[in-house]
Amino acid sequence: MRCGEIIAVGSELLLGGRLDTNSLFLTERLGPVGVEVRFKSVVGDVEDDIVAAIRTAARRADVVVLTGGLGPTVDDRTRQAVARATGCPLSRRPEALEGMRRRLATWGRPPTAAQLRQALIPKGAEVLANPVGSAPGFRLSWKSCLIVALPGVPAEAEQMFFLAVAPELAAESAAHERIERRVLHTFGLPESDLDGKLQGVVRAGRGVRLGLLASPLGVTVTLTACGAHPGTPKAPKAGRNARESVLDRLTRIVRRRIGRYVYAEGAETMEEVVGRYLADQGLRLAVAESCTGGLIGHRLTQVPGSSTYLDRVAVCYSNQAKIELLGVPEDLMRQHGAVSAEVAAAMARGIRIRSHAGVGLSVTGIAGPGGGTVMKPVGLVYVGLDTGENDRSVTREFRFHGDRQAIKMRASQAALEMLRRWLVRTGARVRS
Ligand code: AMP
Ligand code: MG
Repeated sequence: MRCGEIIAVGSELLLGGRLDTNSLFLTERLGPVGVEVRFKSVVGDVEDDIVAAIRTAARRADVVVLTGGLGPTVDDRTRQAVARATGCPLSRRPEALEGMRRRLATWGRPPTAAQLRQALIPKGAEVLANPVGSAPGFRLSWKSCLIVALPGVPAEAEQMFFLAVAPELAAESAAHERIERRVLHTFGLPESDLDGKLQGVVRAGRGVRLGLLASPLGVTVTLTACGAHPGTPKAPKAGRNARESVLDRLTRIVRRRIGRYVYAEGAETMEEVVGRYLADQGLRLAVAESCTGGLIGHRLTQVPGSSTYLDRVAVCYSNQAKIELLGVPEDLMRQHGAVSAEVAAAMARGIRIRSHAGVGLSVTGIAGPGGGTVMKPVGLVYVGLDTGENDRSVTREFRFHGDRQAIKMRASQAALEMLRRWLVRTGARVRS
């Protein structure tokens, strides 16, 4: 496998204001096109430092991907740094200029003198058009290394990598040298329990790695088949198809052991999965949120087309709101407290009946850090689901840990998971 290195350029990435997210998607996308990322670094907007980083990277990597520093301002030094590190002088390139003019024209603007600097490209480099913004990128074969420079804006870097860089890298890589990956997203089982259930699925030295990654959204299980490179104990000899089928077989075994906790595979999110089930079953959903403060609604509406199945989301934070918007009886709250299974049930029932939706979902809990008691500690969350079945709502109690943000995220995930499981069951019932 070719060795890859990522250099993220930008002083803001070193000042705590912004996180280098570009290297995350680049790492994820480079593996499948036969480049194993072995190093990544973050460098500020200091030309000498960028030159040094490029020189070091070009010595040890076959593919170096830079992001950032291609903008029009004086602190954007990546072009100059590549020119100095490689000895390929900059010149204004007509194709870079043309692409930039066209893009700016769609925004009704002529290029400024500063923007014209963006058309300066190292000699011998191929210009990469930017379909989103104004700064073009470039790729330069230098000695035995490929140097790719992409803009810092994540949407631009992603598009350009996807359109102009990944296809060529894929074409140049041998099939058996690509990193293949299966990703299963689980919720509801702690990492250590999952680990126990998955013991022995992957045996050491077979070229496949099993990974578990916990977050407030659950635990992600990855199966990664690695190509031939020094970190892999035994290079797999089989071709891509054979390896893919090994991954497929292992994925099947993993699913057999922990399948009921798997809510999605690959890039799909919980909200997309839930949306797909609701749309398939022609159901409409109404949500009443207390401690999650609209997070469930936000997540659901992130999915394009959610208006086909999402009716409404009510954020009912105060007791009064629960009474006025959902019709939760005041007595019920006085008797059991706003954070109780009884109130979660009444909230789910209330939002469903008032909206005439098929399904009502509710959350009430204590996100902390204050407000907890011995009987009702921080992290106590109740989820209610009302579908009109058996004339009663179903509720579940959860005790989450973590800070306020983590508890809100876990609570939203738990609610969506409870809905997903019900949708899976009703879908199966309808089919049978
Ligand atoms: P630049 O291309 O350096 O002018 O960066 C333009 C924008 O992209 C700035 O708002 C940066 O904060 C952002 N940006 C630059 N590099 C990265 C990175 N590695 N990850 C995420 N955002 C970035
Ligand atoms: Mg910058």
